[in-house]
Amino acid sequence: MTTENLWPTDLFIGGKWREGTNAERIEVINPSDGATLGSVADASPEDATSAVDAAAAAAHGWAATPARQRGEILRRCWELMVRDAHALARLISLENGKALKDSRGEVAYAAEFFRWFAEEAVRGHGDLAVAPSGANKILVQYQPIGVSLLITPWNFPAAMATRKIAPALAAGCTCVLKPATETPLTAYAVAAILAEAGVPDGVVNVLTTSSTGPVVNAMLDDPRVRKLSFTGSTEVGKILLRKAADQVIHCSMELGGNAPFVVFDDADLDGAVEGAMIAKMRNGGEACTAANRIYVQCGIAAEFTRRLTERMAGLTVGPGPDETTDCGPLVNAAAVKKVSELVDDAVAKGARVTCGGKSPAVAGYYYLPTVLANVPDTADLAREEIFGPVAPVYIFETEEEVIRRANNTEYGLVAYVYTQNLGRGLRVAEKLESGMLALNRGLVSDPAAPFGGVKQSGLGREGARHGMLEFMEAKYIATSW
Ligand code: NAD
Repeated sequence: MTTENLWPTDLFIGGKWREGTNAERIEVINPSDGATLGSVADASPEDATSAVDAAAAAAHGWAATPARQRGEILRRCWELMVRDAHALARLISLENGKALKDSRGEVAYAAEFFRWFAEEAVRGHGDLAVAPSGANKILVQYQPIGVSLLITPWNFPAAMATRKIAPALAAGCTCVLKPATETPLTAYAVAAILAEAGVPDGVVNVLTTSSTGPVVNAMLDDPRVRKLSFTGSTEVGKILLRKAADQVIHCSMELGGNAPFVVFDDADLDGAVEGAMIAKMRNGGEACTAANRIYVQCGIAAEFTRRLTERMAGLTVGPGPDETTDCGPLVNAAAVKKVSELVDDAVAKGARVTCGGKSPAVAGYYYLPTVLANVPDTADLAREEIFGPVAPVYIFETEEEVIRRANNTEYGLVAYVYTQNLGRGLRVAEKLESGMLALNRGLVSDPAAPFGGVKQSGLGREGARHGMLEFMEAKYIATSW
């Protein structure tokens, strides 16, 4: 099946769809069967500069547009995304491979950023204080930071884009979006919605490229770009932070995770297994928030593992766009190779496979939902993001021990805790080193909440009021009257 005629596939610059200057195309692959879905334009560094030209030309007008008007355009984006939810979900499943149910959830989540920031746009609060000396007043006004470069990953091709575009526009910034090369079609589909909603030309520009480094560097070297908002791996995030230092560009970084999922003996077992399924299997495990290390207290470890195995083995594996699929393929062959190497390493070090543990012999990039029991802390997957449908279960004895082991990672995005003892839940929540904590829940993502990590999981927050402030700078005016 081809998507070529259904969605735009050229660069979106200054409100116009156009080919890249070098006329090359990037193939888009369907991970469910390995077939080619279509192709998109391949931007050069010159195209990137054109996109910054367009964003810079639109910057003043957009910043001066009344916040109410900006909010109404954003609300229209939400309405159109809801209108097109079915087609968008199918497109995401086609190019990313995730199950249609997950894609539908993503579209609803992605659209909600437009509605949330439509409402936030009109709340550009300032501050007024009297200087402690009494000599003057301190006025603080929040102003748009300027042209913003938004770089997104393939695992949530719609939501990671809207989580950046919506607050940028609400704050009065114009932007250039560079989506992941694996999932470019969704980004262009979102751009088409923005154009239809009345986002003025040049306010949002989108370009795909196979020359990622040179294209991104051309923009980071451009003094008109004042903001980098990146979601992706910690490894690439570090490269970009170093590069952004050259022009002292303000950075927001949503990076990798290694989430602990802690289940105490006193947890509601049914709730904990259900939560683990959500935290592990949303997007087939390809999520930064995925439960990467499931720590279960010794008294219930055997029963928890049995029930989790039953649930994981019962999932239907199949093509992303199929209605009946629970777990689609991984994004590409390299992802399958990495997941199977991590499982093989854990097994070699003493873990036991209770279900899955291999790829099925079909076309496409599949790995079976897998549970690993008795995983030792020395396994590579205790330290590395799995990014696949693999649930490793580790056994612990005491609260102090599990806090120490859970914190033994350079990541700190999210942690999950299951216990019916509220005092223990809150005590452990305070001690776990993560930007977000789910207490007796398997899901934290919410446009109304500040999403982000500590340690090497990132800098800054997306969503909530915090997300808009990432695109604004405080201007302090000293005055007396
Ligand atoms: P990635 O870091 O490989 O790529 C992310 C983006 O950066 C893509 O657009 C890619 O083209 C671009 N990129 C890659 N190399 C670059 C370079 N040298 N210079 C400039 N840009 C470059 O990540 P991915 O594989 O697309 O996504 C998976 C990762 O994203 C995981 O680590 C996951 O945890 C993380 N993630 C984090 C969050 C969060 O909110 N914290 C959300 C989703 C995904």
